[in-house]
Amino acid sequence: MYEIVVLSGKGGTGKTSIAASLAVLAQKDAIIADCDVDASNMYLLLKPDFGKTIDFYSGELAVINQNLCIRCSKCAEICRFNAIIFINNQYQINALDCEGCCYCAKICPVNAITMHEQKSGYMYISKTKVGSKMVHAKLNIGAENSGKLVAKVKNEAKSLAVEENKSFIIVDGSPGIGCPVISSLAGANYVVLVTEPTMSGFARP
Ligand code: SF4
Ligand code: SF4
Repeated sequence: MYEIVVLSGKGGTGKTSIAASLAVLAQKDAIIADCDVDASNMYLLLKPDFGKTIDFYSGELAVINQNLCIRCSKCAEICRFNAIIFINNQYQINALDCEGCCYCAKICPVNAITMHEQKSGYMYISKTKVGSKMVHAKLNIGAENSGKLVAKVKNEAKSLAVEENKSFIIVDGSPGIGCPVISSLAGANYVVLVTEPTMSGFARP
């Protein structure tokens, strides 16, 4: 079994088109993995049926029990992300700013703060219009940990490929050079690098 990962240094170079073309050539003998979870668009080309949906949880969010809170303000003072605001005579968590560090829950004198897992997106296992299975995902707006979701997509694709004795795993990787790209690359046999004939494409760092 060969794992082929298609990458590019930036978005918009045609990476997904190349990966989808390889998927069409391989037909049913491949499992497809769309690891561009921040802006997945392979589904536009391969028209999967979104057969199975799996929730993706990542990180934690602080929640204040207003019935227990004694308005001491300690949590708001120590939150270095300024995620706790005083509004309508209550201390409240701004979910978009909370980094899930748990510090406020540890220092609250009356244990009014609890940490809860956050649903950050979805993973799908689908069948494409060319008959192959495809694992793909969608991260919620502003959600973090895309590297973790990429690893989940790849692991699922690998399990399916082994289970169904496929010859190829074709991976549409994340663009750029960050953590999701490293996650896309892990364990690959071959990498196809796609660039574009522009000044930006030929520029050296
Ligand atoms: S530390 Fe606890 S009691 Fe104090 S304001 Fe925050 S939630 Fe309320
Ligand atoms: S968990 Fe951390 S980031 Fe979130 S509100 Fe509490 S102290 Fe702030």
